[in-house]
Amino acid sequence: MKPIKIPEHYNYVAAFLTLACNLKCSYCINHFGKNGFEKKHLTGEEWVRGLNRIISRDDLPLTLQGGEPSLHKDFIYILNNLKPELHIDILTNLQFDIERFIKEVDPKRLKRNAPYASIRVSYHPEQMELDPLVKKVLRMQDAGFSIGIWGVLHPSQDRIVREAQEKCAKIGIDFRFKEFLGECDGKMYGTFKYEGACDRKFEEKVLCKTTELIMGGGGGVYKCHSDLYEGREPVGNITDPAFELEDIYRICDVYGRCNPCDIKVKTNRFQQFGHTSVDIKEIPGGFKVKSLCEIS
Ligand code: SF4
Ligand code: SF4
Repeated sequence: MKPIKIPEHYNYVAAFLTLACNLKCSYCINHFGKNGFEKKHLTGEEWVRGLNRIISRDDLPLTLQGGEPSLHKDFIYILNNLKPELHIDILTNLQFDIERFIKEVDPKRLKRNAPYASIRVSYHPEQMELDPLVKKVLRMQDAGFSIGIWGVLHPSQDRIVREAQEKCAKIGIDFRFKEFLGECDGKMYGTFKYEGACDRKFEEKVLCKTTELIMGGGGGVYKCHSDLYEGREPVGNITDPAFELEDIYRICDVYGRCNPCDIKVKTNRFQQFGHTSVDIKEIPGGFKVKSLCEIS
């Protein structure tokens, strides 16, 4: 199998082990567009073979996420069999058996020199109690894991999340806020780079280039989060021995149905603000793409 070399300017490498989740948050970004994601799941062995082809940098981890990644039946096998050169981060709601995790996973495997925790736990007050979550996080911290909590500042839970942050800060848990992206009461939240891109009011043909390697549950490599969540054709598959990452602009027919994760102006891996996951430009003579801020 050919190695998959991550281009120097890429900012994110993510394996969505499964898009299934054991919670049902009303604002879940995975369901921003039409639900249509591919239901196929690679086995743990297939994931390990595919992911171990990746050659990344020291400062660019592979993030295992979902949905809820721990729902993959081989979650721990995958973690324990990825090559040591690949740093691993996990995004999780922590609704899994942490005692088994502590017993079977070496905390050193999930630790690196970074300004944020390797295990990033999402706190969703509409779906979970804070106290049991805090207890689990403290237990994982005591066992040596690099772990922190992130709370989404959704308008309906802003106060609760801020209070949770204060409580966690007092007991030594790193608790950070995540901007809410998406629609609430008819208002769109988030700072987006391209006009109308996430409004779902038109579908236009443009050229789009990503800075992220996004892999879906079946190993498919997608141009963007919208393609992943809405089940559009992937550009390749990490289980294909001939697959190579091409750092190019690709034609997209559905500009206007972008996901906020792709278009949002955000911080990159150096925690510097002003990055967007994709760069979009018009096809000569085609639909005019309007950039709302000149940030690269
Ligand atoms: S825990 Fe995350 S993936 Fe699951 S429903 Fe909530 S927001 Fe979505
Ligand atoms: S234009 Fe939008 S929907 Fe199309 S590939 Fe780019 S981010 Fe995805």
